[in-house]
Amino acid sequence: MPQNYVDSEPWKVYFDGSKHKHGTGLEILLDLGAKNISIREFEHVPRIKNQEANDLAQIASGNVDRKVKYRALNYIVIGNELFKKTAEGVLLKCLSETEAYLAISETHSGACGSHQAGHKMKWLLFRPGMYWPYMLKDCIEFAKGCLECQKHAGIQHLPANELHSIIKPWPFRGWALDLIDEIRPASSKNHRYIIVGIDYFTKLIEAIPLPNVDQEAVINFIQNYIIYRFGIPESITTDQGSVFVGRKMQEFAEQTSFKLLTSTPYYAQANDQVEAANKCVIGLIKKHIAKKSRNWNKTLNQILWAYRNSPKESTKSTPFRLTYGHDAVLPAEVCVQSVRIPFDHYWNMMLDELVDLDEERLQVKTFNIGDLVWKVILHMDKIES
Ligand SMILES: [Zn+2]
Repeated sequence: MPQNYVDSEPWKVYFDGSKHKHGTGLEILLDLGAKNISIREFEHVPRIKNQEANDLAQIASGNVDRKVKYRALNYIVIGNELFKKTAEGVLLKCLSETEAYLAISETHSGACGSHQAGHKMKWLLFRPGMYWPYMLKDCIEFAKGCLECQKHAGIQHLPANELHSIIKPWPFRGWALDLIDEIRPASSKNHRYIIVGIDYFTKLIEAIPLPNVDQEAVINFIQNYIIYRFGIPESITTDQGSVFVGRKMQEFAEQTSFKLLTSTPYYAQANDQVEAANKCVIGLIKKHIAKKSRNWNKTLNQILWAYRNSPKESTKSTPFRLTYGHDAVLPAEVCVQSVRIPFDHYWNMMLDELVDLDEERLQVKTFNIGDLVWKVILHMDKIES
């Protein structure tokens, strides 16, 4: 039975305009059995926008851009995944649009997100081996568009100046302590203070919420969060707050044998670091708790985690890495299954390493006559002889 129409929707036909020495023109060959096809609209789209038709025409004419061919050399398909090879031969997992969005939002404002700016986010995503084109641009745009970041962004009051970094030669040798006081509203558990300690070398921070502050609370914090975790420091720097310079604190410092240093108003830089960290912690709390403001005590640990896992300008690394020697697995990696996540693969690699080690250990040692060897004389042998 003859049909009068193919579809009620009009078709869109893309074609490539061509030019040769006899002029320009286009040629369409339709062989559908239907007689009454009419072209109703004729719209010219510049070649660059008509990407699909352009690519097809290039491939059909066997004239694939050499650049594209060259670029394709940098990509490899393993299983069903596309990877990009870097100059060093490291494979980066290429993310789809949805995966990229998930990874960005998790890195910026998820559980471990510390609302970083674009460059830091790109660094954080790139490091565990994620890649997509225009990564940096996407990261910058996402960070700029974040509502919480816009609401709580700090305002720069000081003119731009060269930074002077405080150098401590060893991790966990010098700590700075400070108190964030009178936080309003108090948390649901009536916490009104946060005591914050920062290690000068790794920039690792420890912090706990407190309902009240006295010298004993500070001593407890130093014992449980600094000494029992990282050892006795050489010095702890504080401001001149009465909870830091009281008699009990002096005695504690003497017993434990660390130096208690106080920054004077004339030498305030000594405590600058912890104050900068405080500002950062407060800023992050504000960004993370937007609505549930009485629950900030619960978000504090999450914020500390985010802070420890974001790279610091002065060390070019994260406090977590400097402390533990490797990077933490972050939520963004879990949601897009980075290279470190497929545990089967990871465990196989670990097992291979173990097997190698065992083989080395189990190699049977043989001796020939004349080889020099050590002889063990046990204590009992001596008595008998
Ligand atoms: Zn943000």
